[in-house]
Amino acid sequence: MANYIRKYGKMVDELVKKSFPELKSCKIRFIEVPRFFPFWSFVQRGFGSFFIFLNKVYRKLDDNAVKGGLAHELCHIVLDHQYRGGLNDFLHNFIKYWSSSFNTKMSRKIETEVDREVIRRGYAGPLLASHNAGETFFSKKIVEMLHARGYLTPEQIKSYAKKIGNGDYSWN
Ligand SMILES: [Zn+2]
Repeated sequence: MANYIRKYGKMVDELVKKSFPELKSCKIRFIEVPRFFPFWSFVQRGFGSFFIFLNKVYRKLDDNAVKGGLAHELCHIVLDHQYRGGLNDFLHNFIKYWSSSFNTKMSRKIETEVDREVIRRGYAGPLLASHNAGETFFSKKIVEMLHARGYLTPEQIKSYAKKIGNGDYSWN
């Protein structure tokens, strides 16, 4: 486990250095959750740090896809979408991801906004890779649920990247 955590930490350091300068002084930690959890990842503020919860599936992804997923979580921090922290909020977040209450209009709007921010920061290619990986590693039922949560589809990722003229991407 430690090796993976170290790898994620290194990738986040690189992302922050290159594209998220405002997060330079943030402490970011990782917690892996079992594969049966119905989400990729989420970020939670607490105890003076940000915790990125990652599904164990991440271990199987190629680096580009991992980068896309991590960039998505950093954009949640940048756009200030976490709760204030504390144990209650941790529990709330977990329950939210298990329940259909996550599929509210507000949550969908947030995920769409975050994916767009990922593209604006120059990570359309990795974002696309992470979405494609999701289709491979999760069951059809979970993929449908994830789509309902407002994440951009591959077509939407490409067209938004084109629209804003962000050329810093590759589709593989
Ligand atoms: Zn998200």
